[in-house]
Amino acid sequence: MACTCVPLSCQTLDDWMGAMNARHFLASLWLSSLAVTAGAESGAHEHGVAHLHLVQDGAALSVEFESPLDSLVGFEHAPRDDAHKQALRISHEALENAAQMVSLPAAAGCAVDTVEVEMPFVEDAHHDHLGKGEHADAQAHYTFNCTEPSALTQLTVGLFKAFPRLERIDAEAATAAGQGKAVLRPTQATWTLPAPR
Ligand SMILES: [Zn+2]
Repeated sequence: MACTCVPLSCQTLDDWMGAMNARHFLASLWLSSLAVTAGAESGAHEHGVAHLHLVQDGAALSVEFESPLDSLVGFEHAPRDDAHKQALRISHEALENAAQMVSLPAAAGCAVDTVEVEMPFVEDAHHDHLGKGEHADAQAHYTFNCTEPSALTQLTVGLFKAFPRLERIDAEAATAAGQGKAVLRPTQATWTLPAPR
């Protein structure tokens, strides 16, 4: 997974600064801001930014959420104290509550089918795929069964309320009505889904 590391957040900043003069420092800030911009479009790991993928196929609705762990709990390392463990547990529980994280129009008659949450560093979780790098991601996958999928006109996320560090969600949908993209924010947590043609 590509990781964008803004120099100001690098742990080795002090060592790094010692080796660089101010001119190089500014040049690399500029370069990393380009990298961050490019990364946003390819789904790279960027703190504060999560991704949501929605697929509707008949009555079946799938919603996948992926976020840097930092945006959920404020760190991306194994827990070092009880507060860390508690933060992981609370976030895991919040993500398991599909109906709170994703609310759908009542008219669509959607019922939660399956919920899968993968949170690194939570006991009993298998997180082999997360690697041992400096970054870690958490994922939630929800599936719903909807009796009236044509009434799936919008979706509201509860993710910003649950996770105040989250600044933006890049969302993509593929439904019977077509494909759509949106950028969700704390002030714009409702997503208007592609309308039937
Ligand atoms: Zn990270």
